[in-house]
Amino acid sequence: MTTDLNPDLTRASAADLAHALASGQVSSVEVTQAHLDRIAAVDAAVHAYLHVDAEGALAAARRVDERRAGGESLGPLAGVPIAVKDVMTTKGMPTTCGSRILEGWIPPYDATVVTKLRAAGLPILGKTNMDEFAMGSSTEHSAYGPSRNPWDLERIPGGSGGGSSSVLASFQAPLATGTDTGGSIRQPAAVTGTVGTKPTYGGVSRYGLVALASSLDQAGPCARSVLDTALLHAVMGGHDPRDSTSIDAPVPPVVEAARAGDVTGLRIGVVRELGGEGYQAGVRTRFEESVRLLVDAGAEVVEVSCPSFVYALATYYLILPSEASSNLAKFDAMRYGLRVYPDGVETPSAEQVMAASRDAGFGDEVKRRIILGTYALSSGYYDAYYGSAQKVRTLIAQDFAAAFEQVDVLVSPTAPTTAFKLGDKLDDPMAMYLNDIATIPANLAGVPGMSLPAGLADEDGLPVGFQILAPAMRDERLYAVGAALERALTDRWGGPLLDRAPELDASLERKDA
Ligand code: GLN
Repeated sequence: MTTDLNPDLTRASAADLAHALASGQVSSVEVTQAHLDRIAAVDAAVHAYLHVDAEGALAAARRVDERRAGGESLGPLAGVPIAVKDVMTTKGMPTTCGSRILEGWIPPYDATVVTKLRAAGLPILGKTNMDEFAMGSSTEHSAYGPSRNPWDLERIPGGSGGGSSSVLASFQAPLATGTDTGGSIRQPAAVTGTVGTKPTYGGVSRYGLVALASSLDQAGPCARSVLDTALLHAVMGGHDPRDSTSIDAPVPPVVEAARAGDVTGLRIGVVRELGGEGYQAGVRTRFEESVRLLVDAGAEVVEVSCPSFVYALATYYLILPSEASSNLAKFDAMRYGLRVYPDGVETPSAEQVMAASRDAGFGDEVKRRIILGTYALSSGYYDAYYGSAQKVRTLIAQDFAAAFEQVDVLVSPTAPTTAFKLGDKLDDPMAMYLNDIATIPANLAGVPGMSLPAGLADEDGLPVGFQILAPAMRDERLYAVGAALERALTDRWGGPLLDRAPELDASLERKDA
């Protein structure tokens, strides 16, 4: 950790900020205000936030500063501000999930993750944009318009958590939260040159996350470095009696692993099925280079085959819509958010109001998945679709189990391509779905995964993501490998990758010119 803090507080790492806060070099109010100023300067162009809570963030910052002045011992990230994905409920602050159907809804309670953030003294800057109900890979399915990739404002920042990734890559927050059902933390991290972890299923509470697919959803940390991600992971994680799938065990030693970054003698398996054809040349080059750097750092590398992974995407697109169609049934116009009365009906029935509200409140992708899910679950088709998908899911979990008998971690590119252009895949759901081909197996099996930057692709100069997967509850291995690779890549690129991103204000001028 460096002791000389970057004078531009928005460029400093969370670890450095935490250190400077603890030693009284800066106050949380100063750090928080610097980020609010940055938001005011650039978010009109990036559109990463759906809601900014300047007052609430500054009040929280003041409280932390007072507690510190009073000599209280505070958590390791106390005073470092954070952005929260709009899928997590926040008491008194809007939570839309990127949907019209929740427009104007103010939750009466905090998600457990949010409770933990507040208790740890992290001021919440605001809520980040996302594909509607976390369905998508680009934020283009947000009812409030897409976020933009700070590397190139004409490109997607990934999805569904593209608000959180673009917040980080445009220095509008040092930390952010995400949720990952099929890749929504890892793929946005990959295409923006940031870091994100999907913890072991059950490692971070799901209480207060608006559910997409309950057996796949997992909240996790997003940041610009492996250590910052670990520090946030440690704050977010741990057992929650309010979530029946929460694991009753301590958070794996992620911070220690990130600080050590030791891969000596570690066995790394390159997944044969997650690479090769269909992956952009520059993605493959950076991936192979990263694997060589890990060998130089002392790891052993072998190729591993997971034959059932080729069915992961098909399996996911039966299980996810099935669970989503059931989870979204609660948006019935009676309980939350939007209520629309059908035109020309004098005394509409509850069902007519429900239908009109859903028609107006849900976007196309959400409707598509509800239709798919109700079809897959309908009697007569249940065994053929949902039942078969569950069996293949077991095969995928068995592939992981067999692979982890041979190796300690598995690696692959995070996404097959770098950031694509806004609009490119919007009319082709299959092309959009294919972006998650490498991230989905981990959700189906519940194992943890991380994406970190592997450098820039030669052909387009855009960030490439490197994915690490570990056995359940061995999340610390992600951080050991991630930190070792990050160190080697920082040498290779002569500094953090994000230093090479275009200065946003300059690119804004270019756009206007
Ligand atoms: N892009 C994937 C989907 O559309 C993953 C979404 C997610 O992880 N929330 O389902």
